[in-house]
This record gives sequence, C-alpha cells and structure tokens, in this order.
Amino acid sequence: MTVPVPSEPTASDQQIRVLQLYPRDMNIYGDYGNALVLMRRIQWYGFTPVMLSYNPGDEFPEDVDMLIGGGGQDSGQDRIQQDLLGIGDRLRGLAEQDTPMLMICGLYQLFGHFFETRDGSRISGVGVLDVETYGTDNRLIGNVVSESADFGQIIGYENHSGQTYLGPTAEPLAQVVVGEGNNQRDPHEGARYRNVLGSYLHGALLPKNPAIADFLIGTAVRQKFEQELPAFEAPQSAPVSLQTLTEHAREAAA
Ligand code: GLN
Repeated sequence: MTVPVPSEPTASDQQIRVLQLYPRDMNIYGDYGNALVLMRRIQWYGFTPVMLSYNPGDEFPEDVDMLIGGGGQDSGQDRIQQDLLGIGDRLRGLAEQDTPMLMICGLYQLFGHFFETRDGSRISGVGVLDVETYGTDNRLIGNVVSESADFGQIIGYENHSGQTYLGPTAEPLAQVVVGEGNNQRDPHEGARYRNVLGSYLHGALLPKNPAIADFLIGTAVRQKFEQELPAFEAPQSAPVSLQTLTEHAREAAA
C-alpha cells in the first residue's frame, strides 16, 4: 500500500522509497511520527518521498531504499512473528547491502535473535542485530537522555518490559545518561549494525533527533543517486494539522 504524503509533491522525479514494516501491529507511542518526519525532510532535500507499508501477507516490495519499524505489545509481536521470519532473508540481505533502517522497541527486539517473554516462550527474531531480549516483571518507563558517538545527544521516551543485551557484532547506539535504555545492567541504549539502527526510544524518535533522520536519508541518497545531501534550511514551521496526522496514521494501519 502506498500512503500519500501530507503535503505538496515536489517536482523531483528522484524517489526515496521508505518501507514501513507492520504499521498495523507495530506502531505505538507515536512511532508513526518517524514516517512523517522522513517524508517531510526527504521533500525538503528535494527528493520525492514514497511511503510503502508492509503488513503480514503482503508482497514484499522490490524497490526499497530505507526501512522503518515501530514498537508494539507482546501480542502484536506474536502476530507478526511468522511473517517476519518469512522475510528474514530479504531483511538480512538488505542490511548487508547497507540499506538504512530504523527499528524501534518491539521491532528492535525482533530484529535481534529472540524475545523471551516472562512465561519462558520465545518469539523468534530475524537476527539482523546481534542482540537478545528477555522479558522481566519490571517495566522500564520514562524519558531517556543518551549520548551517541555518531549522532550526539539522543533523547526519547522508553516503555518496555523486555531487556536487551548486545552480542559482539552489535555496537551500542548510545550510552544512557538519564533513564535505563537496553537493560538495567549496562549503560547501553539501542544497537547498530552497518546502517541498521535499533532503539528503545519512542517519542517519536526522529522529530526529537533530526540528525538520525538525516543519517537515514543521507545514506539512502548516497546509495541510490551517488549524491551527498544538499545543505538546506529547515522552514520555521511546517504545519500539519492533527486531523491530517490522524488520517495518515489510520491509512497506514488500514
Ligand atoms: N512488548 C515489548 C516489551 O514490552 C515491546 C514494547 C514496545 O514496543 N514499547 O518489551
């Protein structure tokens, strides 16, 4: 499904195609804001954004420049598990080709090896990121401030009971300054492998941390068009009404 962008199309015929994974089941705490920020900034940079959605049973699109995914409840993670495993080869292949991806919370967990829930059952992941997640009785909730070597300060909001541990081939995305991040034992928040970023931070992440949006867009543009992002000055305000946001979130989930 293609979701129209809530603004005027640009004249450019250079498309950046963003695939949103499982928006029906994995899209909470404002994560759809990440899609909206990407659409708007891709336009600001003079490219034409195309938003694609992939839900269980859909055909996986051939031509994709970036992937994003959001958080969800354990039940939502359970619902998408089989389908996700079915597209695992595609996802691992795209990661190895350095496709930029951003996976938040529930999908961050399932981009790892597994999420073992509190009752001991395992929801398998696709293993793009070398991380493992264990459910706990402790829900980690609150605002997070972290410091990242690649992106500077990263802020957001966490709400998860799963706690995640990194293996040797995943780098931490950031070090926690305030809050918990991946778990209560080490100071890491999120994970990175090649251009795949995983993070627990909702909020949504990209409106609060545009450097990460520009990393995703810049990487996609470099790979597709062998160009660097042009400099631009963000407009002072780019009003999108609450009604428009709600309509687009509904369409994405339909
Ligand atoms: N269900 C997962 C957990 O609680 C993920 C939650 C989320 O995506 N916010 O750990």
